[in-house]
Amino acid sequence: MQDKLKQRIRVLLTDGKSLKSRTEIEASYLVRSLPSDAEVTRFAPSPTGFMHIGALFTAMICQYVARQSNGIYILRIEDTDKKREVDGSKELIVSQLAAFGLSPDEGLQADGSVEGSYGPYIQSERREIYLAYALDLLDRGRAYPCFATSEELQSIVKDQQSKKLRPGYYGQWALWRDKTDEEVITALDNKKSFVLRFRSEGSHDNRIQFNDALKGGIEVPENDLDVPLIKSDAEHLPTYHLAHVVDDFLMRVTIIFRGEEWLPSTALHIELAETLGIKPFKYAHTPVISILDPNGGKRKLSKRKDPEADIAFWRKTAYPIKSIKAYLLGLANSNFEDWYRKNPRLSLDKFPFSIEKLGSSRSPLLDVRKLEDYAKDEIAMMPQESFNKQVLGWADSHDKELYKAFLEDPDYTNRVLAIERSGEKPRKDLVKWSDVPEQYGYMFDSIFSTRFYPRIDEELAGIKNNISSQANKTFLELYDLKANKDTWFENLKRSAKQCNFALDKKAYKDNPDNFNGSLADFAKIIRVSLTGKNRTPDLWSMMQIMGLERVEKRLS
Ligand code: GLU
Repeated sequence: MQDKLKQRIRVLLTDGKSLKSRTEIEASYLVRSLPSDAEVTRFAPSPTGFMHIGALFTAMICQYVARQSNGIYILRIEDTDKKREVDGSKELIVSQLAAFGLSPDEGLQADGSVEGSYGPYIQSERREIYLAYALDLLDRGRAYPCFATSEELQSIVKDQQSKKLRPGYYGQWALWRDKTDEEVITALDNKKSFVLRFRSEGSHDNRIQFNDALKGGIEVPENDLDVPLIKSDAEHLPTYHLAHVVDDFLMRVTIIFRGEEWLPSTALHIELAETLGIKPFKYAHTPVISILDPNGGKRKLSKRKDPEADIAFWRKTAYPIKSIKAYLLGLANSNFEDWYRKNPRLSLDKFPFSIEKLGSSRSPLLDVRKLEDYAKDEIAMMPQESFNKQVLGWADSHDKELYKAFLEDPDYTNRVLAIERSGEKPRKDLVKWSDVPEQYGYMFDSIFSTRFYPRIDEELAGIKNNISSQANKTFLELYDLKANKDTWFENLKRSAKQCNFALDKKAYKDNPDNFNGSLADFAKIIRVSLTGKNRTPDLWSMMQIMGLERVEKRLS
């Protein structure tokens, strides 16, 4: 292509502005002064209003690898696909990262500030940088304008399919690759819009090898696709391919953790980097998190079918953050669980994360039950003070009515929240913070009357002869708040007997019709009448905390 024509294209792409050259740009992105084995990683989400659990997994890996090597962990927002962008996504990404303790060393922070001197860290603010690299390729004959319409592109693919050929814009199918200057000039004169495409020199018949830090040696055909580098929109934004190579080079990234879905584009990225005179990167393609289908098969977590795919789900159900991270670490490194069991109180930051072990974890499986085991333990082990803080914090932002009840009598609340948490076997009925209303709400009168009292009839539906009010009355007559647990139990039995409930299991089993129920049925009446629930912590301890007035009120 003649220089004059290249100049015409340059003016169109830069809107006539003079841009910094590659050399000028590179002079401001110095080689980092870091220890020789320090890794610079980056997490590069697109702001689509949704963060996948797999993305969080990648961010966590980026942070561990950088921190453990005294390197740098970057957050780069990849917002060049304006059609997919959702308003507020950037803020969502940084706040979600912050919630998981994954705020980056460089890039946008949750408070809106930006750290680091290798920015901008938002791709749409780097337009002119990408253009400088694209124009360098144009100058060197390694990029060309393509005016093909989407209908033309579709028809190429159709044609390829009918001939059972590999689909794509390559070789003889690359419509504009070998057009004459005159044809390009006519298209430009006609104001047709164009993309700037890469001119590949690869051949699908040759093979290249590269080493993936997680998957090991990989051999694939060379790239021969002439992919778009600069899109046809008015802003002349780059495609992912160009932006990835330019940014990871300038930001001096040393290892690229990205989802496995990018593996097929790696040969292209290698060719593009080499063409730009950039040493190809070290790639680490992270495995996709799968889920078990009800019919036993393993499948990729899907945004549409699985609410668990979205980080928002995890934050809403409010499993403790530490347990989610612990669970993800277990998916990444198979030795994590042993380490965690040995060091349950250590910060997860101390875990010696290993890239090699991550490499052997193929297609990790999301198992919510396992995560819940971590969560239960985490909550049960939490020091009382931190536990109270979390419970109140959750209620403050999710259940104002309960929060208000918690604040009414702090001393009572503290005693309620401490029920069965000390001792050898602390209670494990709380799996996530959103379980708080169900597990503690009934202890507070305002919540009991609106949410738990209405359940009583249903809970006691199996009890014979509408005997519950008599049972409650008899129990109350003998109830003594000061009695110790043994005496209390004796009194419970006495009242049960008075109401014709069988104390002897065998006698009841032999002749159930002779009784109103068993001792367990009697205790159930008391428990349900007090709480609206059939499963609660130890009845005696609860009544001690509720106090006489509350017990009397609920049983009469
Ligand atoms: N922005 C890309 C995505 O969200 C990330 C690819 C990468 O990490 O390089 O899929």
